[in-house]
Amino acid sequence: MKVQRLVLGMFNTNCYIISGKVLGKCILIDPADDAEVIRKCLVQQNLVPEAILLTHGHYDHFLAVPKLQEVWKELPVYCHSLDCPKEKEQYDMGMVFQTVTAFPNVRGIEEGQKLELAGFNITVYHTPGHTKGSVLFLVEDGLFTGDTLFCRSIGRTDFAGGDDAQMYLSLRRISEIKGDYNVYPGHEEVTTLSAEKRYNPYLK
Ligand SMILES: [Zn+2]
Ligand SMILES: [Zn+2]
Repeated sequence: MKVQRLVLGMFNTNCYIISGKVLGKCILIDPADDAEVIRKCLVQQNLVPEAILLTHGHYDHFLAVPKLQEVWKELPVYCHSLDCPKEKEQYDMGMVFQTVTAFPNVRGIEEGQKLELAGFNITVYHTPGHTKGSVLFLVEDGLFTGDTLFCRSIGRTDFAGGDDAQMYLSLRRISEIKGDYNVYPGHEEVTTLSAEKRYNPYLK
């Protein structure tokens, strides 16, 4: 598995490109912003995305979706149903942003669901707390944690849909995952599960 990280947008959000299983195919996790940067990166490597996976429904993780869906017409977007609101628009900092619901070809995902994309077997863990529909994606030796778990830190719970008690349970669940994985968070540096179990004050 090859994992490439692009840091995009005004919140320095991590976008991941996963490839290496089926020639010319890849998965995009959290195409945060700058669709043109993502497109160029894929085209240079002769990669076609098979799907977009969203770790949760915050706009700073999906601003590139509309333009990517113009380039790759049927590109499906997987997101937990609880982070697909009824409204097609949201307001923040005096600006209007689309919600996940506004995009075509959105597919709701649930706890324990298995996906097979670009040759990879992907397992969905529902880990609410940062948002109601936050998920982790387990792909081979990689754990894509979105804004639930960061390097030595965790995501905020004070946004709409955030919940401290749920976050606590989600983190406990993560701390009980056996074995070691590379942890690819939604912001900041990549880490490992074993390092977080040892040094992350929220996982101890
Ligand atoms: Zn977030
Ligand atoms: Zn974020």
